[in-house]
Amino acid sequence: MALTPMMKQYFEIKENYKDCIVFFRLGDFYEMFFDDAKTASKELELVLTGRDCGLDERAPMCGIPFHASSGYISRLVAKGYKVAICEQVEDPSVAKGIVKRDVIKVITPGTYVDSNSENNSNTYLLAIYEENNNTGIALTDISTGEFKTTSFTTIKSTLFDEITKINPKEIIVDINITDKFTDELSSYTTALLTKKDLSSFRTTDDELVSQFSEAELSELDSASKTACKILLKYVYETQKMSLANINFLEKYDIINYMTIDGSSRRNLELTENIREKNKKGSLLWVMDKTCTSMGARVLRKWIDEPLISKFEIENRLDAVEELYNAISLNEDIRIALKDIYDIERIVGKIANGNVNGKDLVSLRASLDKLPYIKETLGYCKSSLLNEYYEELDILKDLKELLYNAILDDPSMSIKEGNIIKDGYSEEVDELRKAKLHGKEWIASLENSEREITGIKSLKVGYNKVFGYYIEIRKANYSSIPEGRYIRKQTLANAERYITQDLKEMEDKILGAEEKLVNLEYNLFLDIRSIVSEKISKLKKSARIIGNLDSISTLSIIALENDYVRPNINENGLIKITDGRHPVVEKVIGRGEFVSNDTLLNSNDNRLLLITGPNMAGKSTYMRQVALITLMAQIGSFIPAKEADISICDKIFTRIGASDDLAGGKSTFMVEMWEVSNILNNATHKSLVLLDEVGRGTSTYDGLSIAWSVIEHISKNNNLKCNTLFATHYHELTKLEGKIPGVKNYSVAVKELEDNIIFLRKIIEGGADQSYGIEVAKLAGLPKEVIDRAKEILDELEGNNTYENSTKEVLKKEYEKEIAVERIEEERVEESIVNKKINNTNNDNMQLDFSFMEKENLIKELSEVDILELNPLEAMNKLYKLVSDAKKLK
Ligand code: ADP
Repeated sequence: MALTPMMKQYFEIKENYKDCIVFFRLGDFYEMFFDDAKTASKELELVLTGRDCGLDERAPMCGIPFHASSGYISRLVAKGYKVAICEQVEDPSVAKGIVKRDVIKVITPGTYVDSNSENNSNTYLLAIYEENNNTGIALTDISTGEFKTTSFTTIKSTLFDEITKINPKEIIVDINITDKFTDELSSYTTALLTKKDLSSFRTTDDELVSQFSEAELSELDSASKTACKILLKYVYETQKMSLANINFLEKYDIINYMTIDGSSRRNLELTENIREKNKKGSLLWVMDKTCTSMGARVLRKWIDEPLISKFEIENRLDAVEELYNAISLNEDIRIALKDIYDIERIVGKIANGNVNGKDLVSLRASLDKLPYIKETLGYCKSSLLNEYYEELDILKDLKELLYNAILDDPSMSIKEGNIIKDGYSEEVDELRKAKLHGKEWIASLENSEREITGIKSLKVGYNKVFGYYIEIRKANYSSIPEGRYIRKQTLANAERYITQDLKEMEDKILGAEEKLVNLEYNLFLDIRSIVSEKISKLKKSARIIGNLDSISTLSIIALENDYVRPNINENGLIKITDGRHPVVEKVIGRGEFVSNDTLLNSNDNRLLLITGPNMAGKSTYMRQVALITLMAQIGSFIPAKEADISICDKIFTRIGASDDLAGGKSTFMVEMWEVSNILNNATHKSLVLLDEVGRGTSTYDGLSIAWSVIEHISKNNNLKCNTLFATHYHELTKLEGKIPGVKNYSVAVKELEDNIIFLRKIIEGGADQSYGIEVAKLAGLPKEVIDRAKEILDELEGNNTYENSTKEVLKKEYEKEIAVERIEEERVEESIVNKKINNTNNDNMQLDFSFMEKENLIKELSEVDILELNPLEAMNKLYKLVSDAKKLK
């Protein structure tokens, strides 16, 4: 059997879009066939039917109405599919044989533009290209026209950090990348990986030259340039046209921004919370009081990319301070900003031909606000606001054109008329007059005919099939003057008639209407192309508006939340008086939050060892210091009474249990991995936060590792960086005075009979006990468990007779740990028992640290490069280290 001609056409098209679901236009539907139909019916819950295709079996098929396609497309794209839209590309009425069809656009996760959404974040498409140990990346958001590139010496962690920062929806990679690299990449990003043969991209610069200026291109190295070519080519391939809004190539350098790796970003909850992965409870949630979509995107970017240049940070701080002090001026700016629409996205629509009359009305309403904003900026003195003043183009001519040309409430479609304002085009006015005159003539017809015929019930009506008609009821037939009307249609009780004049007038009205629709459409296209010529200027003004909105927002949150301007230094001093956690204080209320001081100076106070019971506030405190530092480097005021902040090149965190069990890694493995990453990549200028390092393994192992890590950070000349180290091993407090830079702090608690009260105050000196049982009690552990735990604790502390048998005591200690740790993590390592039972001569329960002195073990331990080990090797290595440690006892 042979395929039907339509199916033949389908297969020819599908052949070129194998990785896409092809939406094949048939009349008012998009149909999907074969595997595409099976996938789509499953993902979109559509009924799977079949269609004769010329083969023995019917082709599986499902379909959606074309006018409702956008919702279906967005669902498929969100699930990581690509959709190829295949349309009829010739008029069916003139087609000979089967209508020609072709793919007019491919919608992918990285190129999807949701025109209905109020989404204020970017959708990035990224391309990676590596050559000669140099990695180039290029990224674009086609809805805003942003296009950026950078390159760096090939180091995987740098690439992964950059990818987690950008958070792209789709990444174009070489078809030849290894499965291992694909897996690694997938563990850092949820982006769709589009594999392409990149070998052909090294050749001509044609596409780049057509989109960007020579000057922009001359600055790029080869890897960057090729990444840009790959990206552009893919944009052409999917959009099937070049986009006029992609006209500025920004080259950036990753070393100009603070480095924050993926897990630290997650831990610090910069733009989304860890649990639900949405904005609520993140730093962005507290800071984002922007008035425009452009401002929202800029602010998010600033949070993602804190600065490291003192000059740039202070530049922003100066601008923020100026608006902070000029409250009413800032308020005026914000009122104007609130009326500004997403100019960048409107420009995107202009570039890809999707813009309609309503968008242009939004654009002109936005442009309307620019003169006032410019005038207000004219009063400002700080260099950044001055720069905005100088550069803001108010696009007066364009605004006037749009006001003169476009109706205040035009139709959604540009093909239905009702777009152009009266007075803009004489021809439009004439046609409108003709249409109006005709309608008035018809409206008066009813009365005049009633008078002439004397038939009171005579009506003039209109329907789509017969046009205008005169309707006369049966009872009045006899009153119709002979030969006056021509009969057109007979109804049950009436007849419908026309006259020569009526038909002529109808032709005039309909002709005018048709002409008007075409004329308005063509005029709209002309206006669109005039606006297109201003794309660069519009983009520039939009960028300034976004930046101004961000600065204004930083000022307003500073005022509302009682933040202060930090002093920025580069000498390692982080001195915060009465610092607060910006998010926790928002959640629990400003009055409830207990502020705390911080002193880190890269010198004698460079590793703060913070002890205190669980739930005391250690993690909150550490995060608070990191967030304050980060906010300062964004150029924001900060939640404190006063502060000196030293610029950090990188912030690292190892906080909480970020289990990756689904990824096949144990909690402990992840913890060690993160610590290893920190030790390998932190520098003297970094800020490091370590929370409960070593908790994921048995007490001895954990303590050894924690101790060794502290030594490594404090003694290694490449590190010696400001560090906050929270631990429940209060034995570590003995390190103060022994290791340079280590200072003990603890979170104060008040004992009240059998209970404890958390004071949330960080005080100098280490905690002498863990209050684990008290915390367990607070958590509501059954009374008998608490009482029993206390009993065991008493025994362990030597107040009881069990002591004579170490084994017994150790077993009992294990039981105590179960009781306590079940509330903390519900996680107990079996090795605690085994290890402690073997550890015979320890009768006073004080932990013996002598083995820690054995430098060789420490050296071996600290030289472990966990990132280079696979999980099995790591476990083996760890096993060996633990055995060695045991032997040293
Ligand atoms: P830890 O790390 O010591 O176990 P957390 O930092 O997780 O303790 O703090 C536990 C809870 O205590 C937090 O969820 C927060 O609500 C509260 N908290 C922490 N620090 C403060 C503070 N300075 N003021 C008020 N409440 C705080």
